Amino acid sequence: MFYHSLAGINKLNNFETGKIMIMKNKNTVLFLGVASIIVLISVQVFIIVGVWKQKNEMFSITHTIRSMEAYGSIRRGLMTTGFDTVGILLDQYSWKAVNELHNLKDPSQAEAKKKDIFDYFSVVVNKEQDLSGLLAQYFGDRGMDKNFRYNININKVELIENDTILVYEKDGFKSRLPGDRGRKPFQFEETGSSILVTNQTLEGNNYRCNIDFYIDFSDKHKLILKEMSGSLGLSNFSIILVGIMFMITFRNLTEERRLSNLKTDFINNMTHELKTPLSTITVAGKTLEMPQIRADDAKILETAKLIGKQSVHLNQLINMILEISMWERTQFQLDKKTVEIEEVMNDVVDSFKSGGGSNAEISHKYHFSGAKVDLDVVYFTTLLNNLLSNAVKYSDRKPEIDIEGFTQENNICIKVSDNGIGINKIDQKHVFDKFYRASTGNIHKFKGLGLGLYYVKKIAEAHGGDVTVSSRIGKGSTFTVTIPTIS
Ligand code: ADP
Repeated sequence: MFYHSLAGINKLNNFETGKIMIMKNKNTVLFLGVASIIVLISVQVFIIVGVWKQKNEMFSITHTIRSMEAYGSIRRGLMTTGFDTVGILLDQYSWKAVNELHNLKDPSQAEAKKKDIFDYFSVVVNKEQDLSGLLAQYFGDRGMDKNFRYNININKVELIENDTILVYEKDGFKSRLPGDRGRKPFQFEETGSSILVTNQTLEGNNYRCNIDFYIDFSDKHKLILKEMSGSLGLSNFSIILVGIMFMITFRNLTEERRLSNLKTDFINNMTHELKTPLSTITVAGKTLEMPQIRADDAKILETAKLIGKQSVHLNQLINMILEISMWERTQFQLDKKTVEIEEVMNDVVDSFKSGGGSNAEISHKYHFSGAKVDLDVVYFTTLLNNLLSNAVKYSDRKPEIDIEGFTQENNICIKVSDNGIGINKIDQKHVFDKFYRASTGNIHKFKGLGLGLYYVKKIAEAHGGDVTVSSRIGKGSTFTVTIPTIS
């Protein structure tokens, strides 16, 4: 493992190159993803607009044909143009109106009267015609859409007595030739939404009036949308699907980059961790070769102890790495015994106080009430030691550690609080990940491999429990371990 680690160190450059490759890949995927989504959306919009236009035209054509049929059938079947009532009303009115107009000598008064006459014609033809009612009935009887708006535009109004008086003529209206019935019916308006059902010249004893009757199906867009709902839904679905696929790919790449970063950081940290005891041992070996040292038994003993201590540390590091790589392949094997938790806690904390925690102020409060748990004592000791040594390590003042222990429902709860540097919110989410080191705990200031808390979490979970963290930067952190008791 150690050999492999050194080989890994030599491959550091390869990792860096890999990292750059992943970043380039990520940017390419981001660019291609966004570009393909934009292209897809544009193509879909283009297609949908095309289909919409087509459907719109189709709607107008079919509804024009239906209106033609309807109008034809009304004329033939009911023998009416739909303007009979209008005819009677205009006849009565125009007889009076033409006389009044003749008696007005003042041209401005005559113009005002003409305007009144036009307004009256306009109201009567719009309000009193039977055509819209007959059309609605015809459409309704055949299960067709009968929700239409209608509008009657007057093109020309003339009053007739001995001579013809022009009352109104629309701008650009072409006077009809004898025998010409005016505009052809069943045309679309320029907007393409109204259908010209009929152009008629209504005639009575004293008037002649040319009109256009338009209808406009008000539910047209709703109906077209309904028809298109299937293809619209599918196209939205395909865009969403591509979006989701893109997001998953992007997330995977981001995750890949994060892992690659972690791996590189781990190798950097491990190099640092392994190099320190190794160079101490090398220097100690060289020291032992010096004749003046060999002559001094005390110095030989001191150097041998140093070599021994550093070898143990080296061994521990290698064992930890080996063990974790073994967990990846095999299930955690625990050697559990039923123990009284307070006893174990006292043992571990006491030995920590006399070892790595000698410079820390450690206080504890236990309310376990004799609770018993099934524990692998060796692993549990490692768990607690990791938490306690982190509490000492990640502190920039005299470490103060507060250990609380109590039972809660069917668990024992152990809280280890410190007055250390704290962990920010983002790092709190990741500190239990393998190889993760918070940015403040970088290799140069606090040494470590990012495995301690991963170890803690794995051990707690293997006992059926869990570990959580709460922390405030600059104030300290609290790690809470829960492990089920035995009932
Ligand atoms: P290591 O200590 O080897 O880096 P750990 O898994 O033990 O790895 O811790 C992961 C990270 O969590 C550390 O790098 C450190 O930033 C942060 N951390 C852990 N314990 C504490 C603590 N008590 N106070 C502040 N930060 C901590």
